[in-house]
Amino acid sequence: MIHLNNVTKTYPNGSVGVEGINLHIQKGEFVFIVGSSGSGKSTLIKLLLKELDPTSGDVMINMVKTNELNRSQVPYLRRNLGVVFQDFRLLPNKTVYENVAFAMRVIEAPSRTIRRNVPAVLSLVGLGQKSRSYPNELSGGEQQRTALARAIVNNPPILICDEPTGNLDPETARGIMQLLDDINKRGTTIVMATHAREIVDEMQKRVVTLQDGHIVRDVEKGGYSDEA
Ligand code: ADP
Ligand code: MG
Repeated sequence: MIHLNNVTKTYPNGSVGVEGINLHIQKGEFVFIVGSSGSGKSTLIKLLLKELDPTSGDVMINMVKTNELNRSQVPYLRRNLGVVFQDFRLLPNKTVYENVAFAMRVIEAPSRTIRRNVPAVLSLVGLGQKSRSYPNELSGGEQQRTALARAIVNNPPILICDEPTGNLDPETARGIMQLLDDINKRGTTIVMATHAREIVDEMQKRVVTLQDGHIVRDVEKGGYSDEA
């Protein structure tokens, strides 16, 4: 479902984001992308989202080479991808309900479907009682649950997360991970960049480790590193 073939991204200033990446992710997998700060995690995520194009190599999402898409085809690619970032990126002047509904309005979903699906997804993430609140009235965990609801409301086959627990305390982070695990069990493929060692150790999923832009480890099921 996701294939990176010999992908290199070099930034205009000459810094190497990632280099020679070969990575294949099947439908239904839950994959952590780990590595220290500067190792290339966000670059890899941006390549998946086509926020960046590779300097060389191919990125394929759902059998489509993203580097060959033209501008008008990008929205179709994005419909296959839900995204969650560390800093939530909610619209501050919209309620929880409207933040999630907005993602459906963008793809021109019928009002009836919006009225049915938004409450369902808010209840899935445990925010049924908060739909009228504004982002600044929510805790960090609640804001991230809203962002998660927005990311999955259109049922994308793939959910991409860049440090989604980076701004959360450990207990709240654990709640978000539980939700991600539930979403994955319902069939969504998840790719999550993180440097949160405890979370990765606890989840025991596939772990791909980046170091200086290269994949240095890829284990099917394991912890953050090989150390005990
Ligand atoms: P991570 O998310 O793992 O912290 P990044 O993908 O952000 O790593 O960064 C990987 C490398 O690419 C680093 O050396 C970083 O300095 C460089 N880099 C990232 N973004 C840019 C950019 N916009 N311009 C130049 N270099 C960048
Ligand atoms: Mg990053």
